[in-house]
Formats: sequence, structure tokens, C-alpha cells
Amino acid sequence: MRTHRSPLAVVRNLGILAHVDAGKTTVTERILFATGTTHKRGEVHDGTTVTDFDPQERDRGITIFSAAVSCSWDGHRINLIDTPGHVDFADEVERALRVLDGAVAVFDAVAGVEPQSESVWRQADRHGVPRIAFVNKMDRAGADLDAAVASIRERLHPAPLVVQLPVGAEDAFTGVVDLVRMRALLWPGGDALEDAPVPDGLRNEARTRRRALEEAVAELHPGALEEFCDTGTLGERTLASALRDLTRSGDGVVVLCGSAYRNRGVEPLLDAVVAYLPSPLDVPPVRGTHRGEEQYRPADPDAPPAALAFKVHATATGRLTYLRIYSGTIEKGDTLWDASAGRTERIGRILRVQADRHAPLDRAVAGDIVAVVGLKSARAGSTLCAPDAPLVLEPPGVPEPVVSVA
Ligand code: GDP
Repeated sequence: MRTHRSPLAVVRNLGILAHVDAGKTTVTERILFATGTTHKRGEVHDGTTVTDFDPQERDRGITIFSAAVSCSWDGHRINLIDTPGHVDFADEVERALRVLDGAVAVFDAVAGVEPQSESVWRQADRHGVPRIAFVNKMDRAGADLDAAVASIRERLHPAPLVVQLPVGAEDAFTGVVDLVRMRALLWPGGDALEDAPVPDGLRNEARTRRRALEEAVAELHPGALEEFCDTGTLGERTLASALRDLTRSGDGVVVLCGSAYRNRGVEPLLDAVVAYLPSPLDVPPVRGTHRGEEQYRPADPDAPPAALAFKVHATATGRLTYLRIYSGTIEKGDTLWDASAGRTERIGRILRVQADRHAPLDRAVAGDIVAVVGLKSARAGSTLCAPDAPLVLEPPGVPEPVVSVA
């Protein structure tokens, strides 16, 4: 088991997947707000959201183009890759899924699983992306966590593992009981979050649901089963580590709930992202080809560099190419081989994109997601690698146009 000694262990390359209108943009905004990345909450309806920075997106009210934003939570760096929710942009979702290590799938607590949530879920299955489910809009009239979970079980995954019990319903949704820690997280008003004992009136239900969670986990996880058989119960640590294993293997899907609009449930969601979703070290080495031969590159900063360009934006600062670095280290001024275009490219500036600003970096290592300035030919789907260790990560497809941002 890896420890936190490697700086990569604290990286989470995360995407938010959802049916249009389930609340992906609002969840993203609240994550940026909760992590201190933005200080003012953007609202979808007034066009001030940070990730939807393209004017065309603002006008149309849907997220069209992906953008990657880095933020910090509990000593971890979360690189948030925005994925379009609209079915017309399936290719973009596909490419974003390629560079993610984990995702949060957002559902509407009234509608449950909707057709587009199902198609994006299947795409994520194909890419083997581990997921957490977030049942949003718990404040809405008719919100029903159990019904949403039933629709996840029927249509998406046989093992939804519900780790929270809502406190109050609809307008009176004011918190959740964390069934792993058996503590209540309450939002008494404003943005404050209170960690409190489980309210008296919910204690029996919380115990029953905790028991159901332990049984479901023991059924799927051999280590947990052993403890469950020996002691008749599962301790908090075993439960948490089994939930992490099941999430990463794809055998189970942890389910949380909240109301992004009311800023309820986002902090526990971030805790779950950090606790359960994988770091770049926990995912298999990336596969590429060179002259028809398969090659595998580990997330090792000392291996030859290999990176995939997944987004190109023409901005006022220049042509910005978003890269997922799979192996090696890239430095400012490095010359790399664009294996897809068959030419060399020079890395000008390396930038960490933080919502509304770009922090310059001297270098970036395997596992990271950064934007670089100076690449002339790289397109979404291009591989950039060491000239003396070439490989192609993605077979060349239809070239994508460069998107202009005012
Ligand atoms: P997206 O299309 O998935 O990005 O969804 P948006 O974040 O744009 O949200 C769609 C609509 O649902 C907007 O009008 C939001 O204000 C609203 N919305 C988002 N989250 C919540 C929530 O938790 N509760 C309620 N009642 N509305 C929400």
C-alpha cells in the first residue's frame, strides 16, 4: 500500500459527470468556493460561474468546453476537469474521461437516473473511471434519496453504498448523518458546518442503516467479511478502507447527498473524494504504442515524459494546451516530440490554472494536469513525449478546431 510520502498520493484528477440540469455546474462552483479557490459564489443564472468561462457557454447556459481548475482540500490537490453534460458533446466527455482518475456523478434527487446520466455512466465504465455518486437537490419538493438510490441500483450499478442519512427533507433538509463516523453534519444556517452527535430522533434509523451498509460492504469485500464474521460488526477504519477499495475497484459506488444550491453537502463530498477516489499512483500505467508495439508508462517522475493534450484554448495569454502528464517530468523550455503531428514542440510556460488566474510553474510531474503555452501544433488528442522515447497515447482521430476565447 502506498503512503502519502509521494507528492502524487495527494493528487486527485477529478471530473464531475451529470445529466444536464442535475447541478454539475453548481456542484463545481461550490467546490471552488469551499476550497477557497473563489471567494464569491458564482450563480448559474447570472452567468458568473468560473468554469463556464467561455461566453458562448454563458449565453447557452450549458457547459460546452472542458476546463481544468486546480484547488486544495485537506492537504490534497484536486485538479477538477470540467466535462460537458450535454449529449451533443460526447467526444469531449470521452476525452475528459480519458484523463480523469475518478469522478463524481451528480444526480437530481427528484428525477434520479436520467437518460444522459446513464450514457455518461456507461462511458465512464468503458474508461474504468471509479465513481462516487452525489444525489443533489435534496432541498427540492419530492426529493427522495431512497428512490434515487433504487434507480442507481436498477439502471447503473448493483452495489450503491449509501454512507449518509439525510437530516430533514425538502425545505427542511438541514444536514446528513455520516454513517461511517456516526456523526451528524449539520448546516444550521449560512455556510457554517457543524459536526454534532446524531440527533436523538434519528439514532435508531442511523443504526439500522449503518448495519445495512456494513452488511453490503462485508458481502463485497473479503477483508471486511472476515472482520464482520469475527466480531459481528465493522469498525470505522475497516469500513472506510473497504469503501476505498470497493470504489477504486469499481465493485461498489459510495452514495452521498446534498443540495449544492444551498451549499449543503459539498464538504463531505470533498472528504469522500480525498478518502475514496484514487490518486495517479493508484491507477494502472498508461498504455501507448510505438511502431505498432504496446508500451506501458508508469506515473513515475523519473520515467521518460509522456503527456496527452486534451484541450486547446486560444486565449489572450496565447494558445493554452491542457496536458495530462502520465509519466516523467516536463520543464519550462523542454523540447518534446509531438508524436501525432510528427514534429518537435517547445514548452514555453507551464501554468497551473486556478479558476480566475494562472500560476506559473517551472516543472510539472507525472500524474499532474497543467496548461502550457508555446505549443504550436498540438491538438486535443496529441501525445507529447521525449524525442528519444516516442510513443502515441491515443490513435490520431479527427482533428479538432482550436476554440477561441475572447
Ligand atoms: P448542470 O446543467 O448539470 O450544470 O446544472 P446547473 O448547475 O446549471 O443547475 C441546473 C439548475 O438547477 C440551476 O437552475 C440551478 O440553480 C439548479 N440547482 C442546482 N443545484 C440545486 C440544488 O441543490 N437544489 C435546487 N433546488 N436547485 C439546484
